[in-house]
Amino acid sequence: MDLQKKYNEVAVIIKDAKAIVVTAGAGMGVDSGLPDFRGDKGFWKAYPMYERLGVSFIETANPVHFAMDPPFGWGFYGHRANLYRDTSPHDGFQIILDWIRRYNLDYFVATSNVDGHFQRSGFAEDKVYEVHGSILYMQCLTPCSDEIWESDEIVPVDLNTMRAQHIPQCPRCTAIARPNILMFGDFSWLSDRSDRQSYRFNHFLYEHRDENLVVVEIGAGTSVPTIRRMSEHIGDQRHVTVIRINLREPHIRQPHISIACAGLETLRGIDKALKM
Ligand SMILES: [Zn+2]
Repeated sequence: MDLQKKYNEVAVIIKDAKAIVVTAGAGMGVDSGLPDFRGDKGFWKAYPMYERLGVSFIETANPVHFAMDPPFGWGFYGHRANLYRDTSPHDGFQIILDWIRRYNLDYFVATSNVDGHFQRSGFAEDKVYEVHGSILYMQCLTPCSDEIWESDEIVPVDLNTMRAQHIPQCPRCTAIARPNILMFGDFSWLSDRSDRQSYRFNHFLYEHRDENLVVVEIGAGTSVPTIRRMSEHIGDQRHVTVIRINLREPHIRQPHISIACAGLETLRGIDKALKM
């Protein structure tokens, strides 16, 4: 089936839907210019310094560094926070918001991205489920309490060494603070904020259980398959169609729809079909 036919088909499904679920992985950020850390090569391409040090993404994104070598731990996350802050979300976010308004759709977003770009684009805070947390929130490393706080604290990073020049602290106990993001080998991540979002998401799915629901999955790969499995799981229900938009790993079983194309290009194509 050619792309235009698929866009037309998806347009009909969106017009027939009562609600839309957007499930998004790292591929959603690629069109904004963000790296997706695809394998060690992708990670090292984005961070040549870590290639010189011989450390992988899995080794770098590990909470042990905040205790052992805080400037190293915060080097990676401080840099990412600055990058996400300085990067504007691409037009695809607005295109989806436009569908929500135009077709009066209820909606929910579930994303493994920690950049906060959905909320920044105008998606409501109580309609986003950040399965791996958010870089805009911090917690105590110990942790001395269950507190998760919003933070716009800027952590400057020396790009030659990838070491942070400032280390955020827990306001309660003055221990080191860390991003409220689920890392690899992470046993101290506080999941309360994410759990509350998950609860709202499940409530949303329950409310719409007997209505036509469209799931638009964008750039969710197989290496950490949380988002893909979530889309498929929702797609097992009646009245649900999943649109999987994925350049490299587009496969999904019928009657769901697979589009082997980049996220923004596909959203524009569907948008055009909707306006025809
Ligand atoms: Zn503390």
